[in-house]
Amino acid sequence: MSEILINRAAYLHNLTQISNKVGSKDRIIVILKDNAYGHGALQIAKLASEFGIKFACVRTMSEAQEIAEFFKNILILSHIPTGDEDLRFIYTINDISNLSVLKSGCKVHLGIDTLMHRNGLGEDELESAFEIASQRNIEICGAFTHFRSSDETSAEYFVQRENFAKAKAKIKALGAKFGLNLTFHSNNSAGIERATDFDDEFVRAGIAQHGYEQFNSSLSLKPVMSLWADLVSKRVLKAGQSVGYGAKFTAKEDIQIATYDLGYGDGLLRYAGIGELKLANGNLLLGKMSMDSFSTKYAGDRVCVFDDARVWAEFFGTISYDVLVKLSPIIKRTIV
Ligand SMILES: *Cc1c(COP(=O)(O)O)cnc(C)c1O
Repeated sequence: MSEILINRAAYLHNLTQISNKVGSKDRIIVILKDNAYGHGALQIAKLASEFGIKFACVRTMSEAQEIAEFFKNILILSHIPTGDEDLRFIYTINDISNLSVLKSGCKVHLGIDTLMHRNGLGEDELESAFEIASQRNIEICGAFTHFRSSDETSAEYFVQRENFAKAKAKIKALGAKFGLNLTFHSNNSAGIERATDFDDEFVRAGIAQHGYEQFNSSLSLKPVMSLWADLVSKRVLKAGQSVGYGAKFTAKEDIQIATYDLGYGDGLLRYAGIGELKLANGNLLLGKMSMDSFSTKYAGDRVCVFDDARVWAEFFGTISYDVLVKLSPIIKRTIV
């Protein structure tokens, strides 16, 4: 059966790099949403907690429940309030109306819109937010913003930092008025690479923990995941014969060809048999990928499909996040 190997040493190395840059592991929030970017939420939660990380961040309440035992704090980014929240977790306020629906007793972090205009409160909503929260017995314990272009070399990142600094001053004053202790955070992985000063803030480390830097930066990270496929069958493809759907690859001479057990049904982006897509061993995928398998030159019982998602991201014109996160939760994840 195909398998995802999670390289423990590489993961701990990446957290060490991030922690050295930020100044403390206590300031790192690990983002474990979407099955930890396809790496396996439980496996990564276990490693992060072993490293000493106490704060994680996920997408939904069920994701938080899955990893609850590993962290002191778990922030949920995209919960749609129901009034039936699990009070162990911290909920993001993406819209001021959230404060009227969340269960009394909830802890929240305010999302602050500083330019991205996707989610969060505007500066003019802050005062009402603190008042509603206080009336409804909802505890505001932090506030954060998200950068829309921290991964692009432009001044926008600095504009947003300025905007957040202004919002923070206002939030701190309101926090003092209501007697609240607040945690702030803004930088994601690209921001961690760019920032030279983290002020009093925590950081949200997503793709960086998995070994992908976005700049040629001070962090030297190592990809954590490698994806492996196992042999289903092999045969000699004779000169002139073609393999797979639509006969996209035809042998020029006799070759030992083999089929391995991963396909687009496992969440791999679908290779259509056009262009050169290489496996980690340098061999090409041959012919169209099937739902549950692909063909390539025979190279033993097991081949590494990739140990660096950027190879596939570049081929398909997308980002490494997209290649990683689509990998089916059904594939076995093993820490090595
Ligand atoms: C996904 C996400 C992150 C992590 O982003 P990376 O670029 O992977 O570090 C941080 N903050 C928010 C709000 C997110 O949605």
